[in-house]
Amino acid sequence: MKITVLTLFPDMIKPVISQSIIGRAIYEKKLQIDVIDYRTFSLNKHHKVDDTPYGGGAGMVLQAEPVVRALRAVEGHEKALKILMTPQGEPYKQSQAKALSKAEHLIILCGHYEGFDERIRPYFDQEISIGDYVLTGGEVAALVVIDSTIRLIPGVLNKDASHEEDSFSDGLLEYPHYTRPPVYEGQAVPDVLLSGHHQAIASWRRAESIKRTRTRRPDLYEAYLKRQKNP
Ligand code: SAM
Repeated sequence: MKITVLTLFPDMIKPVISQSIIGRAIYEKKLQIDVIDYRTFSLNKHHKVDDTPYGGGAGMVLQAEPVVRALRAVEGHEKALKILMTPQGEPYKQSQAKALSKAEHLIILCGHYEGFDERIRPYFDQEISIGDYVLTGGEVAALVVIDSTIRLIPGVLNKDASHEEDSFSDGLLEYPHYTRPPVYEGQAVPDVLLSGHHQAIASWRRAESIKRTRTRRPDLYEAYLKRQKNP
């Protein structure tokens, strides 16, 4: 997979993608991430990319021209899936991460300041919000999308690390985990996990997953019940 990030602050992205699982995936050539500073596409002699809003008001608005010029300069942009990070976009979910992980090439635009000129919207295929709050810029949001997406590409996680039982994969929260020691400050690991009985362990985990979803996320639990009734 190839991901092109268009940003005014490449240094907010680059150190993060060099680390851990993303860094390893890049090193192993399972993933390519290009980070492009769209300020360099400004025709303004001072490389200005923003201006005051028509109609007045606070803040600066990113101009359409440098963004669209940067987008068109990306090799393969015609076929790539072009994503705009915005708090006004579709709320991001695991199901979208799964869909995006199948794309060959994603281009992700990070806004900043007051946001961007409305006229850049038609150049993008999808608008994504990572939640109902406003960040200073799209970089952290783009990293959320990148991180959650690339771990679903086959071969990116270690063979023994599965994402199939992760929270949200089947619409439920994941069951609780325990590791050594068997008792920690009076808290014991549930006996079933020490039993070696695989079927009993699987049943316990499934039950805990459902219980946890019911108490912590009634919205997901309701959806789960509906799916059970109408598979
Ligand atoms: N004035 C805009 C509004 O109210 O919709 C918010 C602009 S925000 C300060 C600047 C940039 O941060 C946005 O253009 C977007 O790229 C990014 N951003 C902020 N919050 C976000 C969120 N929840 N999800 C995705 N991107 C976000």
